[in-house]
Amino acid sequence: MSLEELWRRAHEKKSRLIIALDMIGYSNQEFEEKVNLLMNTLRELVCGIKIGLPMLITKGPEYIRQLIARYKNEYYFIADLKLADVPHINEYVLHNIKEMGFNAAITHLFQGGLRGLVKLADEIGVDIIGIVMMSHEGSVLFVKVFNELLEYAKLLKVDGVVVGATKPAYIIKAREILNKDIAIFSPGIIYQGAEPGQAIRAGADFEIIGRAIVNSKNPLKIAKEVVLAEREALYG
Ligand code: C5P
Repeated sequence: MSLEELWRRAHEKKSRLIIALDMIGYSNQEFEEKVNLLMNTLRELVCGIKIGLPMLITKGPEYIRQLIARYKNEYYFIADLKLADVPHINEYVLHNIKEMGFNAAITHLFQGGLRGLVKLADEIGVDIIGIVMMSHEGSVLFVKVFNELLEYAKLLKVDGVVVGATKPAYIIKAREILNKDIAIFSPGIIYQGAEPGQAIRAGADFEIIGRAIVNSKNPLKIAKEVVLAEREALYG
């Protein structure tokens, strides 16, 4: 699928910003109000929305299905369930991810045995993004297997990989090793310490931001600052 839809939105909006819609610590009513506010306010600046276990576990698949149906013409939707299981379980979950309306799914790569998942994704029209490096401090085992994960990502021909923005040296390395047709997604910006635009400068294609925007009193202001920093990094 090659992230066609995501690139289209990114070019339309001149934005490489993806929001991690991790709604943690909200009451039921606040949750829905805040989600609607974010989705409506950020539509011109944000090209994608990443939804993970926090929302699935709190609201369930039906809420997510309806949310995606309402906004599918404005955003690209990524399911961040970090698949890491045996093939038949991953493939079952992928069918459900498609059914909820997502455009892409994030999977771990270290478990191996992912050819079937990538093939299925291609058949049903879901982009696959593999994790090669995480952004948090304790992610030391990833350092040891980073090169192998990159090679596996290449072999599988995934559509994208995740490399934490807090580790620009790994973004540079990933960009060197991967062909340009595999996009690099970088989370870990502002809250985890990376500056907006920093990952793009190192060779990433998309920046993922959660708390710094989702929990902000003025999400639009932060999103504008991020997108401007990204444009500066891209076009000078
Ligand atoms: O709130 P914050 O901007 O730190 O959120 C980062 C998001 O990116 C979270 O949804 C987290 O699950 C995700 N993520 C990450 N590092 C990775 C992979 C995913 O922070 N390597």
